[in-house]
Amino acid sequence: MSKKRGRPLTEALTEAERVCLSNGAQLTELRRTVLQLILEAPGPLTAYQLLDQLKEIRKSAVPPTVYRTLEFLMENRLVHKIEQLNAFIPCSDAHHDHHDVQFLICEKCGTVAEIEDHAIVRALAKAAEKQGFHPGKAVVELDGICAACSTSAH
Ligand SMILES: [Zn+2]
Ligand SMILES: [Zn+2]
Repeated sequence: MSKKRGRPLTEALTEAERVCLSNGAQLTELRRTVLQLILEAPGPLTAYQLLDQLKEIRKSAVPPTVYRTLEFLMENRLVHKIEQLNAFIPCSDAHHDHHDVQFLICEKCGTVAEIEDHAIVRALAKAAEKQGFHPGKAVVELDGICAACSTSAH
């Protein structure tokens, strides 16, 4: 269950289908299955965890199957890759700019929240430009303790 997002699974999948269609792409059964696994996971999933789960449904699944599918899902902005975990989470808003996003990664429970704060992106761009650096994508991955974990600790 993707309870942390409070969005029913079927609704998320229907929305994903719509997004693919508007991108001129197709959410095939395989793509849909992989997306569903990511949506249902309580936290980020690595490609190998996905492969293991996928093998229970499709015996023929091999690593390239998973990588190609993840590539597709990222291109269509349905999932994000968390680089430092080398794992994937569902995107909470397929319409936002995936180049300027921040992830809050909880070290305790492993959940990842996605935020989009333009002030952070502007501040980063400004700091970079001061160095004569031309910034490209500004994905920020922040480690720490989430709200739920910090209240349960007291
Ligand atoms: Zn997103
Ligand atoms: Zn936590």
